[in-house]
Amino acid sequence: MIIAIDGPSGAGKSTIAKLLAKELSIDYIDTGAMYRAVAVKAIRCGTDIDDGAALDGLLESTDIDLESQKVLLDGEDVSGLIRTEEVSMKASRISAIPAVRHKLVALQREMGARKSVVMDGRDIGSNVFPGAERKFFITASPEVRAERRLKELVERGEDAAFETVLADIEKRDWDDSNRPLNPLMQTEDAILVETDELGIPEVLARVIGHIKQ
Ligand code: C5P
Repeated sequence: MIIAIDGPSGAGKSTIAKLLAKELSIDYIDTGAMYRAVAVKAIRCGTDIDDGAALDGLLESTDIDLESQKVLLDGEDVSGLIRTEEVSMKASRISAIPAVRHKLVALQREMGARKSVVMDGRDIGSNVFPGAERKFFITASPEVRAERRLKELVERGEDAAFETVLADIEKRDWDDSNRPLNPLMQTEDAILVETDELGIPEVLARVIGHIKQ
């Protein structure tokens, strides 16, 4: 069984996807973490992230894997490094490059072909697994998402201002929704969950309610 969870950044997808996977005793695959790991590699190697050919070359010597909630980049656990604002913005730009999408989508399909999974991202229900048994589109207003993101950053000791976080979220929304290849979108068969007014337990209960129908 594949459960696809898509939506914009900061909507709470990964929190819900993790809890859902636990509840169903199946694996959780965070596809955003894979794009983030490629961004870390490009930053480290000084690769121009708008240069498709350079990224293509970089990908040939890049190994990305997810192992019990850890993100492995060439065997190194980079789970802590991938959550900065710099990596968020670079991951979004990198994710528009066809060579990057082709490699990561192929990996994601392989991961889902082997076992039942909850997979979250932007294009899971529309592109990676269009035949997924259940599809959810989890969203919230940009302001609510910016507030959640700011709280997360502050808790991690990062210095950030609400206006900057909001502007970053709006830019990523626009870029993710308007790229030509596999843009962020709600498919017709996806169940929409608006989380502005809902806490995590309520969202989870709604999602589980739909799955058990
Ligand atoms: O979900 P997260 O915020 O970690 O994703 C980081 C970036 O990776 C997103 O802004 C998006 O551009 C990209 N992404 C994507 N397709 C996915 C998952 C993430 O393009 N399936």
